[in-house]
Amino acid sequence: MIRSSIHLFRLWGIPVEVNASWLLVLALMTWSFATGWYADVLPDGSKQELWILGFLTSILLFVSILLHEFSHAVVASRNGLPIRKITLFLFGGVAQMERDVDDPILELKMAAAGPAMSVVLAALFFGLTKLVAGHQLVLVLANSLYRINLIVLAFNMVPGFPLDGGRILRAVIWKKTGNVQKATRIASRVGNVFAIILMVYGVFNFFVGQFIGGIWFIFIGYFLRQAAQSGYLLVTLRQTLGNLKVSDVMRSPVITVEASLSLRHLVDDYFLRYHYGSFPVLENGTLAGMVSLRDVKQVEMEEWERATIADILDREITRYALHPEYPAETLLHLIMKKGYGRLPVIDGEGRVVGIVSRRDLMETIKMMAYLEE
Ligand SMILES: [Zn+2]
Repeated sequence: MIRSSIHLFRLWGIPVEVNASWLLVLALMTWSFATGWYADVLPDGSKQELWILGFLTSILLFVSILLHEFSHAVVASRNGLPIRKITLFLFGGVAQMERDVDDPILELKMAAAGPAMSVVLAALFFGLTKLVAGHQLVLVLANSLYRINLIVLAFNMVPGFPLDGGRILRAVIWKKTGNVQKATRIASRVGNVFAIILMVYGVFNFFVGQFIGGIWFIFIGYFLRQAAQSGYLLVTLRQTLGNLKVSDVMRSPVITVEASLSLRHLVDDYFLRYHYGSFPVLENGTLAGMVSLRDVKQVEMEEWERATIADILDREITRYALHPEYPAETLLHLIMKKGYGRLPVIDGEGRVVGIVSRRDLMETIKMMAYLEE
């Protein structure tokens, strides 16, 4: 799936982005509406009319989804949960919050706000069909959007996380059991099953010759499945790491090397002996950077006797040095997203007091998840 997003505009200070796949979706949707839906509704409509209607419907569907997402966002920010941005996908969007909801009742309110907006929109478009009886094109457009908003509503109310219905289900289980992780797990499983049903139904459509419908169902099912899995993973990680500090995850004492050491020494006495991928480097007793096997490999082997660690170390990394009292969650970002395998932990004077690695972090998460199950 394409991951990059395109920034569109700001609405009430919140940036709105579309997933890059959405442009493809817009084209596919316009085409589907023009040649499928409207060709059936308006058998004597001109080609031009059908395509304009298809395009307008797609854009208004986009606006409907945007309003749906904004009602989630408004409820969130009114309750002190700032929204970083809104990203639109196929039949829905994601309002990215700065932090997680910590109360099931608030989660319930937020989750219900979007579907409530879809109900309002469906009602408005239905009302419009009664007002414009004389204008056939406006009538079919309003009628289509009335139905589409009902579909958006139905789709989002499926009780699988991370859809709204799944969030509502999660909030209810969470409220009853007091266990957010268990609630997320159950709601994600339902989401996963629903996604698989959609994809199987899509393949079935393929076999009976309904190619466009088939592609749609497979596409949506695939997207939903990914969202269910990554949503669950993220919640689990945040939950398990929530109460931990860097000092709980770090390894200590740590093997450090002096910047004046030759590369020959570094390879023979450290890399070959301890089997770590990188070491914190000290200058005058404080952290100067990290040196990795990859840095050493950049230097010709004949130079190893003469060259020292000071010539090649990565000094940039000191900017990301951690302190023992930092929340362990900051590690997730640095290690998972920035791709650092090992990061040094320093005290107030810049002395190295420990090291955290991706492997240690994963082990901790696994252990915590196991204990909490
Ligand atoms: Zn929603």
